Amino acid sequence: MDLKSLIREIPDFPKPGILFRDITTLLRDPEGLRYTIDTLADKCADLGADYVVGMESRGFIFGAPLAYKLGAGFIPVRKPGKLPGPVHAIEYELEYGMDRLEVHQDAFQSGCRILIVDDLIATGGTAQATAKLVQQSGCHLVGFGFIIELRDLKGRERLPEVPIVTLVDY
Ligand code: 5GP
Repeated sequence: MDLKSLIREIPDFPKPGILFRDITTLLRDPEGLRYTIDTLADKCADLGADYVVGMESRGFIFGAPLAYKLGAGFIPVRKPGKLPGPVHAIEYELEYGMDRLEVHQDAFQSGCRILIVDDLIATGGTAQATAKLVQQSGCHLVGFGFIIELRDLKGRERLPEVPIVTLVDY
């Protein structure tokens, strides 16, 4: 299936000069959505993940059905102040300023096998920060899954050396 034809390009969003890859057009296509989750699951099945970790918010959309298909659990990594229980947090640099991600302290049990999933990898900052959260907890990071990779930004070079599964690249 030609997934690129289902991903809409929006120029100058969220700011001038950025070409945003909009996955809402893929999500609303029944066959495209099913193919995306099924293909990601096929490609990630051998990684043996116990848990899929998805980053707010588009990582939730793909991560939860992927976890279901893999027979794994799902762990949300959220923006600050959203999780009700005690959290571990990590701060990371954006182009301008800092951002912060949080996960429940009891979500990761030492030794469990984690697959990190998001819709898209650009500079790799979000995935790198999430990987640090996972690794600091004593869990075993088994891989990353992204629907889209923006190759020119070389995000994968910032990630630990584990398998990186992607479906579409630009
Ligand atoms: P990075 O941290 O790799 O620079 O950026 C990746 C994060 O920003 C992901 O969580 C992703 O959802 C979001 N993101 C950045 N650019 C785009 C884009 O063009 N389309 C979509 N759907 N998400 C983007």
